[in-house]
Order: sequence, then structure tokens, then C-alpha cells
Amino acid sequence: MASRLRPLAPALRILPRSASAAISSASAARRSLSLKSFFTSRKPESKDAAFTSRFEPVLEQADLFHPLSKSPLAPVRTKAEWINAHGSCPVCKEHDHPEHKNSKRPVFECPDCGYPTHCSEEHYKADKEHHKHVCGILREVNEDEHDLRSGRRMKEFEFPGAQHRDEAVNLSNWDTFLYTRGFLSMNSERSMRHVSHVLTYPLTIGSVLHQSSPYQLGKDLTVEGLKSLAALRHTLHPAMLPGITQNQDLRSTATHTVRIFCLGARAESHLPPHIYMQLAYLFPSTAFQIHFVGPDAIPPHTKSKEPHQHVHYEQMTFVYDSSRYESYHAEAGPFNPYYDVFFLFSPGLSHPATKEMWKPTLPLLLDTKCAIFGTGFDEKDVMNDVNEIENSGFELDWLMKPRENAFRSLKHEINMTDVRQSAQCNWGIWGIRGRRYDVKPSDQ
Ligand SMILES: [Zn+2]
Ligand SMILES: [Zn+2]
Repeated sequence: MASRLRPLAPALRILPRSASAAISSASAARRSLSLKSFFTSRKPESKDAAFTSRFEPVLEQADLFHPLSKSPLAPVRTKAEWINAHGSCPVCKEHDHPEHKNSKRPVFECPDCGYPTHCSEEHYKADKEHHKHVCGILREVNEDEHDLRSGRRMKEFEFPGAQHRDEAVNLSNWDTFLYTRGFLSMNSERSMRHVSHVLTYPLTIGSVLHQSSPYQLGKDLTVEGLKSLAALRHTLHPAMLPGITQNQDLRSTATHTVRIFCLGARAESHLPPHIYMQLAYLFPSTAFQIHFVGPDAIPPHTKSKEPHQHVHYEQMTFVYDSSRYESYHAEAGPFNPYYDVFFLFSPGLSHPATKEMWKPTLPLLLDTKCAIFGTGFDEKDVMNDVNEIENSGFELDWLMKPRENAFRSLKHEINMTDVRQSAQCNWGIWGIRGRRYDVKPSDQ
């Protein structure tokens, strides 16, 4: 992943959040979970020990900034060592001074962001004008990382349960979604970054498919895009079907399940299933199958090496398959544009490391005539994939023009081999579909 990071477009800024999202009167049932469950497998421990260790902070909120090498947290110190060993000093790199041939590693830590940025204080000072453009982001990442491991009770991860059928969700952006869904304790940009980082996958999917999608015809969606989404929404919002009332619970009687195929799945397959319930809650009448396919598609909290695994969770079924997509495709077919949709999260269609892997897959996907959506971690990454598609020569229609994703992760991921570069998970989004030739009545 780190090797695929490239510089972020300078215009990108984190959205300011409205104060209104901090207040919520929702009284929906809440699912309490510890932060540990996101990052570690569960270990048996006594109830008392679990309670005290969860809520006894090791770091206070006023004590979240530490130079990486002096952090009280071992994983952060390890990160500093990794950057020391694999990073490079930008000043040495640029000028390639002969005297720095063997001293290019960044060991000097910027006092403002705590990251090892340069080989020496001298080079740091010489480069300060450039460094100040990324210093703020690095400082933010530094403090966020210490906060995540601070041991405080992470109230922002206590997600709301199912919504009432009459409650409308506003999917314009993170602020309106979190507010209208009744997320509590979203009272800082830091909380927003933590939560958006976890929810970007289910919400990227949900915000595209939902009838209240922020992506509209003419602005982001093409006519073909609206046709494809109308087909899927016909299945996802069965209340829109004639003869079915709003109050009928179709979960037990649903004859169809919407299948979401996440290909080349990596981080999205490692999220605990309950995170994807936030997608399911947007479509209370629909059963889902989420298929994670690819060599890195591994269920969370498992030691099993089984190449094909299922997990059932309320109205969702998760399938994890580590085979190559070409072989999976034959088993999973036939496909239907009303029930099936593909998501390619940061696929790297044009990247040398992954380009060949996608070559046999794309024609298969286009042949299904199902909608295909993709994301990228910055503008350049998105446009590289878009250009690759345009130059592929395949017959296809654009469903969604490439644009910023309203539900991208607000957290910046730092490229550890060059800390001047950062990216945001699912920064941008696009959509395509294999071209359909509608049969028209003959004029004769
Ligand atoms: Zn240097
Ligand atoms: Zn700095």
C-alpha cells in the first residue's frame, strides 16, 4: 500500500464540520464496542480486568503529542525506527550532496510534528518552508494515533442500531449522516476522523446506492448511471414497488438478496461485520451478501487459512474468498443488474504492481452489465485508473464521472518512505458499466 501512495493534490482540505452534529437526541439502541476490537483479536480476560483496562486512560487528552521516537507507546516508536531505516531526507534527495551519500536517512525529528523528517537539524532548517505545508497534517496524525491508543473510552465508536422506518437519513456528507443517524459524541474533528476511517467502506457503498444519494443526474451521474442505480434501488427500496406497503417487513419474505462484490479486497474485508450493519440499516428491507474476493480477503479475528469462508450477521452474509476473481466469477454467476453491483476500492488499475491482475477481470465485469464503482486515494490515483479504463478500448458507459467521494476517510495516511506524501482512503469515486445495446423497434 505504502508504495502506491503518491502526493496529494494541494487543494484537498478536510471539511469543516458543523457544530450541530455534536448534538443528538436519538435514543436508538446502541452497540457498545471497545476500540481494541478494531485492531486486535479478542483475548479472554476477566470482566473486571476488561472494564478497568478499557476505561483507564494511559494518556490524557492534553498529552497526545510526542516525538515519535520518544512516544510512551511502543508501536509509535517502532514506526519512528521504520521511517529512520526506510525514509529519506528530502534535502539530500534533491541535491544528492556527495557528503550525504551515506547519510540520507531521516533521523532528525521536527519539534512541531514529531516525525523524523530530515537527516539533520541543518537540513531541516534549510527545508522549513517546504515542510510547513505538511507539518500540520503530520501533527494531526501524530496526535490521532496517540488518542486511538490512549486507553480512553472511545464513545464515538458506540454506534447507533437500527433506525426507525420513518426516520430519514441525510446522506449529503459525513456531518448530516452522523447527525441524522444519531451518532453520539461526535464533538471533535478528531472523532470524525476516527469514525470516517472505519465507516468509509460501508458508507461509500451506501451513499451511492441509496435513493437519497448525494450524487445526482446531470451533476455527477450520467443518464446511464441513473438507469443502473434505478434498477438496484428497485430492489433495495422495495417500498417503491407497487402493492407493497411501507409497514411490511420484507426481511423474512424477501425473495431477492442484493450482492455486493468487493474485488481485490484488502482493508475492507478486515473490518468486523457489525461495521457493515451501518450499511444494512440504510436499507432495512434488504438482505445483503457481501463478497470479498482477492488474495488478501481475510475475515477479521481468524487464524483459519481456509480459502473460502462465510460469516452470517443479522441480515448480512459475508463471503471471503482468496481465489483469483476469474475462477470466482464462474461460480458466482449468473449476474443481474437489479441485484448485483461491484466495488473496486483503490484497485490500482494502472499501477505496475496490480495492472496485470486486473486485465482478465475487467472484461468479465463489463460483460455482466452490472454497475461497477471504483475509488482512489487521491486525485492522481483516481485519474490514472480513469485513463486506464478510457484507453482500454472496452465498450462501456460511464455511470458516474470521477469526483471527490462525500464519504472518503477524513484521516490522512502517511507514506512512511516519504512523509511529505499522504492520502485519504476512498478519496475519489467513479462508476462504469459494460455498454448495453437496447433493442429498438424497427422503423419499417
Ligand atoms: Zn539531508
Ligand atoms: Zn513538522
